[in-house]
Amino acid sequence: MQADCDDCNQYFIITYGCQMNVRDSEIIAGLLEGMGYTAAQSLDDAGIIVFNTCSVRHSAENKVYGKLGEVLAVKRKRPETLVAFGGCMAQLPEVRQKLKKSGVDVVFGTHNIHELPYLVEQARNGRKEVIQVWEQEGVVVEPLPSQRHSGLSAFVNIMYGCNNFCTYCIVPYTRGRERSRRPEDIIEEIKEIADQGYREVTLLGQNVNSYGKGLEQEVDFADLLEMTSAVAGIERIRFTTSHPKDMSDKLIDSIAGTAKVCEHVHVPLQAGSNDVLRRMNRRYTRERYLELTSKIRRRIPGAAITSDLIVGFPGESERDFLDTLDMVERVRFEAAFTFMYSVRSGTRAADLPDQVSQDIKKERLQRLNAVQYQIAREINQTMEGTIKEVLVEGPSKTNPDKLASRTRSNHIVIFSGSKGLIGQLINVRITEAKTFSLLGETV
Ligand code: SAM
Ligand code: SF4
Repeated sequence: MQADCDDCNQYFIITYGCQMNVRDSEIIAGLLEGMGYTAAQSLDDAGIIVFNTCSVRHSAENKVYGKLGEVLAVKRKRPETLVAFGGCMAQLPEVRQKLKKSGVDVVFGTHNIHELPYLVEQARNGRKEVIQVWEQEGVVVEPLPSQRHSGLSAFVNIMYGCNNFCTYCIVPYTRGRERSRRPEDIIEEIKEIADQGYREVTLLGQNVNSYGKGLEQEVDFADLLEMTSAVAGIERIRFTTSHPKDMSDKLIDSIAGTAKVCEHVHVPLQAGSNDVLRRMNRRYTRERYLELTSKIRRRIPGAAITSDLIVGFPGESERDFLDTLDMVERVRFEAAFTFMYSVRSGTRAADLPDQVSQDIKKERLQRLNAVQYQIAREINQTMEGTIKEVLVEGPSKTNPDKLASRTRSNHIVIFSGSKGLIGQLINVRITEAKTFSLLGETV
């Protein structure tokens, strides 16, 4: 970093965590642009640096503190640079306590992102430590400006917060209770992005399956999928996340029957043992989960089913862990995000006895990944020689001479082709299967 700020009217956002945070960062960018800031190419050029943080696991928090230390060291040399800290970590009182007198100029939470311009303005006017975090969610604020990322695929929030209180999870504490956006506001936003040239939309919520509860009008997620499908210009619809306990037959039929909705369902299992599932407060059993996933595969031909899995939840025995491996082998997930349980202070599981040692968690994670990766490879191999419709997203991150694209089932296909194909839906033949991607050629 340089020692002085050449252009204090530039912003740089550092984003951690899930798609919701990615989307929030787009809104933060929109709010800052509304104040006259423009995007900086690097941290070095920024007059304001915004942290949008994640607190879902301890490792995520550690990364934030590491980076914050780096940025604050620079701020000491370049005091005119403003540092703002928002997102899930900012909702936690113990984090706010740590930030006091740290050099951070502005702290804002997940419920008052829309207040950021006002808070930044106060800091620009010389006020020290502008800390404003709402403890509780307010009404859904509409509309919010935003500066979206890629020009092809857009995230759209359909709801905020979560009511499920899985015992390991901090999200209900940092994101508040579940609130759905009104369908007309969502559809308006989707029409706007379609007009801007986006072709794919991913509808976001902690549990999209309970969309619509609490709204004045009678509307559920299946209805919303149909309304989204009617928007001209949008060719692919994705969504995440679906809680297995709330996945209705109506929704499965709607996914199967709505051509634009991609055949991919992310239904996190979390654990394979009924005892662990009960103590996680997931409110389904392994038997019900198996019924659900076989129904999805039966009614939605070619559906990819993906999952989140946690190892080392308090009290998880070797037998319980083997139940998770058994479920992975039975369901055969196309992909899974796998995590070691991380103690989150304030959640119910943090106080449970029999916390599992770090060594056992690591060992179980390795065993789980070995099984899951093998299954993913085998599923990918069955696709060799087939022809798939893909949306061409842009240059491949690992090899910019190639193009990266995505099948409807969310598999990444890398192939050689002209940059002119970016943004198009084309057919490719799968030539080789890897664990996390496929290689292909245009047909
Ligand atoms: N709402 C989604 C759902 O119900 O599946 C996911 C939200 S959470 C941000 C994403 C994933 O992080 C969860 O599915 C879970 O597997 C994982 N996760 C949440 N809390 C965790 C914890 N304390 N330790 C490890 N993994 C955790
Ligand atoms: Fe967390 Fe469970 Fe809510 Fe997902 S459903 S956000 S895992 S509490």
